[in-house]
Amino acid sequence: MADNVGNADARPDLEFEEEFAPDEAGTIDEQEMAEAGAGCGQAAVGMPLGGHPDAPSSLSSRTDRAAEAPSGHPGGHPGGHPAGIPMDRQRHGGARSVGFRPGGGPEALAYQERTGIKAPRIIAWEITRSCNLSCAHCRAAAEFGHYHGELSLDQIKSTIDDIVTISNPIIILTGGEPLMRPDIWEIVDYAQAKGAMPVIGTNATLITDEIAAKMADHKIPRISVSVDFPTAEDHDAFRGQVGCFDATIEGIRIAKRHGIGVQINMTVTTLNADKVEAVHDLALELGIDAFHIFMLVPTGRGEDLLDKELPPLEYERVLAWAYERQKTSPLHFKPTDAPHYYRIIRQLAKAEGKKVTREEYGLDAMTRGCLGGITFCFISHTGDIQPCGYFDMQLGNVKQQRFSDIWTESKVFNELRDYSLLKGKCGRCEYKAVCGGCRARALSVTGDYLAAEPYCVYEPTPGAVCD
Ligand code: SF4
Ligand code: SF4
Repeated sequence: MADNVGNADARPDLEFEEEFAPDEAGTIDEQEMAEAGAGCGQAAVGMPLGGHPDAPSSLSSRTDRAAEAPSGHPGGHPGGHPAGIPMDRQRHGGARSVGFRPGGGPEALAYQERTGIKAPRIIAWEITRSCNLSCAHCRAAAEFGHYHGELSLDQIKSTIDDIVTISNPIIILTGGEPLMRPDIWEIVDYAQAKGAMPVIGTNATLITDEIAAKMADHKIPRISVSVDFPTAEDHDAFRGQVGCFDATIEGIRIAKRHGIGVQINMTVTTLNADKVEAVHDLALELGIDAFHIFMLVPTGRGEDLLDKELPPLEYERVLAWAYERQKTSPLHFKPTDAPHYYRIIRQLAKAEGKKVTREEYGLDAMTRGCLGGITFCFISHTGDIQPCGYFDMQLGNVKQQRFSDIWTESKVFNELRDYSLLKGKCGRCEYKAVCGGCRARALSVTGDYLAAEPYCVYEPTPGAVCD
């Protein structure tokens, strides 16, 4: 289930970053982990029950599935937000809680000094496209079988060798279902040994005590898990698998028992927009660390869900709900693939007579809406590089070129880094430095990734400045 992990969103804006204290500039946060959960495509909608014909017809037998899954070893963070629950009382469990600063290592700083380009801070890596589920919204349109051309372990290791010459990123191991890859623990160990931080985006249905113990033993700080509905009936229909909801919830409980941080990702569509509060409450009940709502980007299998995408005004309503709810929720929120959120929080804060500062709003004051190609990118199962998993354009392949060369030289990456190139209303918007619009959506709808974001209701005010 290549759930919400193809995207980025979690990097301090280039301009704001100048304001950061040196010890903060490279710090990972849950926002980054959100994208980390982003290996999976996007969840959504009423899939017929049944799933893929080759997949197990029921997820009731966790023991059986564990036997198929890799086996091996035994085994939250304060973010910030709106003047309500103080940052230090919000749950965390991400890399920051263990002091990891992605893109803050000496190689990253030297790279930036040498090239003037930010080093990647988060890389979502689809280490396999195989999946035991068949979700309606899946970015990868993943299915159960083996996919031709997947990167070998040696190819993955040599790509990591190159990545760490320019950065020490968080690497979100995603899929497909990454736990379907038998050598996942070797990949985890190798990435850690090289100074990167691997995390896992999973559907959690394969998590047994043994797998969770391995996660703990291999020092996985957090996993992200997609939960789109608060009830089994709706979630199973959406995920295309009877028993999926119960298996996912059980997997989450097991992971929590082993001390693994858990982030819930919810992809919001017209099918579940009225259930966001209920899924949030379920997350609270489960003792989750972070709650990330994702806005559907209809690519991959999700293209079939085009008519389930929220209308722009509904989109605004959900993001405004997130702003208000964060005031009282102990969970860290991170609306993802929803760059307008960083415009909306400034508008709502201003209406309350507040300014979005780091002191009061924490990381939300320091990040930017869309980070694809800026400090985030996606590597496909075959080695293609994209700005994010939903941005349907391959900028190079690690089988033919070095990752570091693609990151540095790609015309598309370099255009995404230059906000002055944005067109239409995004180009003249006072919020473009903190928002930027979803470039994948612009590409999908208009064919031009620099065009105005099609799902934004805001009309920029001539001469206005970002609050
Ligand atoms: S016009 Fe573009 S940059 Fe401005 S808020 Fe809307 S999506 Fe963001
Ligand atoms: S292009 Fe859209 S989906 Fe991709 S990182 Fe940016 S906001 Fe997220």
